Amino acid sequence: MEAVREVEETLSELRQTFKDGRTRSIAWRKKQLSSLLELVNDNEENIFRALDQDLGKHPVESYRDEIGAVKKSINHTLSNLEKWVAPKKVGLPLPMFPTSGWLLPEPLGVVLVFASWNFPISLALDPMIGAIAAGNAVVLKPSEQAPASSSFLANTIPQYMDSKAVKIVEGGAEISELLLQQKWDKIFFTGSQQVGRIIMSAAAKNLTPVALELGGKCPIILDSISSPSDLKVAIQRIVGGKWGPCNGQACIGVDYMLVEEKFAPTVIESLKKTIKRFYSESPKDSKCLARVVNKRHFERLRNLFKDPPVAASIVHGGSLDEENLFIEPTILLDPPLNAAIMTEEIFGPLLPIITVNKIEESIEFINSRPKPLAIYAFTKDANFRRRVLSETSSGTVVFNDILIQFVCEALPFGGVGQSGFGRYHGKYSFDTFSHERAVVQANFFIEFGSRYPPWNDFKNNI
Ligand code: NAD
Repeated sequence: MEAVREVEETLSELRQTFKDGRTRSIAWRKKQLSSLLELVNDNEENIFRALDQDLGKHPVESYRDEIGAVKKSINHTLSNLEKWVAPKKVGLPLPMFPTSGWLLPEPLGVVLVFASWNFPISLALDPMIGAIAAGNAVVLKPSEQAPASSSFLANTIPQYMDSKAVKIVEGGAEISELLLQQKWDKIFFTGSQQVGRIIMSAAAKNLTPVALELGGKCPIILDSISSPSDLKVAIQRIVGGKWGPCNGQACIGVDYMLVEEKFAPTVIESLKKTIKRFYSESPKDSKCLARVVNKRHFERLRNLFKDPPVAASIVHGGSLDEENLFIEPTILLDPPLNAAIMTEEIFGPLLPIITVNKIEESIEFINSRPKPLAIYAFTKDANFRRRVLSETSSGTVVFNDILIQFVCEALPFGGVGQSGFGRYHGKYSFDTFSHERAVVQANFFIEFGSRYPPWNDFKNNI
């Protein structure tokens, strides 16, 4: 009961703040964003510590994927905000002259942001940056599965930001359910498809718009690359992209790889060499690999690859350290396609390689599964690139690299089909938390009598 009352009080305070109008002021928005930047600048060490406690992330990884990403996003928003909020004139049909029309972005109201645990700082703050830039009051619900990061956000945000307009509510599923019983003006959710369904059905009660940033199985197509130096670059990018960000626990990370059967031995050898080069002979001791977030996910991953028919397909790695929640970078060759490892999102350091006779068959393989959040294709064949673009669908497509789409503010980030809907980053974040209002202004000095009845003679009135 106490929790219900607290949630209701939080929301009614935010509603009042929004009604008072202060979140609409551009000066207020800029002040909040600058204070958030100050928070991040002042607390880099605390953020490193929280991410180490939650996930064992190396400080370089934490800076690249979380601190640096948030700073970049705030700076980009601050530099462009005036332009984004400005009304945009639109051309109206000539017979309407001198009526004018324009588009005016307006804030939605009080919005709710759910974050996931794998990038617990950036995936909490990045949507919040968009919500504030658009002039909304916000509740942020960090993930309970990254408790150090959650409590860091809950403790520091009120010290830097307007606590009558920005609230952090900590907790797990129970608190989330209480939040979902309230009426919001938008819900922005980052997380699993399973919880995404809960969010959407709760939002339907009030016709609340939602953005669902979900996951799925992101494939990589590796076309046969004959040049040894190009292959080296491709494999480095693949290893860095698969195991680099949060040791495979990334929504746009690689889930599985498609290669031609004859090329697979070369690829596997090259992957093994690169894993050793990046993470040493003993990856367990490497400080550059994050650990599995918790025991529940460790068990989930163990079940995915310790099942005997799947375990038989391991060609590299496979060792586990339960006490330290560590799973070695593991490669599997052609595991059974009906096993969970090939039907569920992996979200961990396991990489199945699926062989095909001709690389073009990978298009059909991808199309026989739900639309992924991202497709990666390494190929020098322009015709094959065109086929990937025209014959498949996914949130994003990247040719010859991995994950870099995430840092391009000019590109929208989001899914399609079961990988989610709604998009954000840069101006798209601003748009996602705004309503673009259509405004038309007429005047009194021109009046067409034929608009009005009586219309006795059809031909003479048109
Ligand atoms: P999750 O769905 O378990 O949790 C996400 C959020 O939902 C958390 O804040 C959690 O507290 C809340 N939640 C949990 N149970 C709930 C319930 N019953 N009702 C309401 N809210 C509830 O996801 P996760 O484990 O934090 O993250 C992993 C998933 O997120 C993966 O599927 C991954 O692909 C996806 N993901 C997507 C993106 C993206 O940008 N598209 C980014 C990161 C992660």
